[in-house]
Amino acid sequence: MQQQDSMVIALSKGRILDDTLPLLAQAGIEPQDDIRKSRKLIFDTNRPEVRLVVLRATDVPTYVSYGVADLGVSGKDVLLENAAENLCEPLDLEIAKCRLMTAGIKGHVPPRRRRRVATKFVNVARQYYAANGVQADLIKLYGGMELAPLMGLAEEIVDIVDTGNTLKANGLEARELIADISSRLIANQAAMKMKYRILAPVIEGLEQAVVARRRQETAT
Ligand code: AMP
Repeated sequence: MQQQDSMVIALSKGRILDDTLPLLAQAGIEPQDDIRKSRKLIFDTNRPEVRLVVLRATDVPTYVSYGVADLGVSGKDVLLENAAENLCEPLDLEIAKCRLMTAGIKGHVPPRRRRRVATKFVNVARQYYAANGVQADLIKLYGGMELAPLMGLAEEIVDIVDTGNTLKANGLEARELIADISSRLIANQAAMKMKYRILAPVIEGLEQAVVARRRQETAT
């Protein structure tokens, strides 16, 4: 099959993947193997022209940006933090919803003008604090942000909050909302022009799946 007639969709591993697979199935795309159990990274699907690759969430925009994947599913948090070129965002998939927030030790009031902030979202945090007139000394961490205020490494963290249980279990509380997050369908801009004929029906199928899911949720 010519490259023009086939497509690659890059999926984010983990909890986003669990929510993505039902949407893809509803849009008529099903992997041949069990993606969650297999150690493979590239999957054929029931559609001969569609292959799926499963990546670390932060690598999805890179693959799509370079055009080796035509479409991708990526959390808005990842897109905000890692600005990539040649991308467009045709659809909000409304899955893996959460919030990007500041948080700190319950009851503590952070210093007003200057504070130490631990996060893996340093770019988002830099912009947020600058816009709010706070001088933030940013400390990049790769996980377990909740530990930083407890150990005195930082006065505040910027992290993803879903139920808030992780914060609560560590004696922390959410402070300010930075952005509402959900997973987005992203597309390589050149592929959107060159391969529109095969990409458009997939995007439309996913859009219909999102609408159907929203209807189902509001009905229950
Ligand atoms: P929770 O205890 O429900 O507030 O979940 C908080 C933790 O789960 C965060 O520290 C994140 O690492 C992770 N998490 C929750 N939802 C998401 C999501 N939609 N995308 C990425 N990570 C998430």
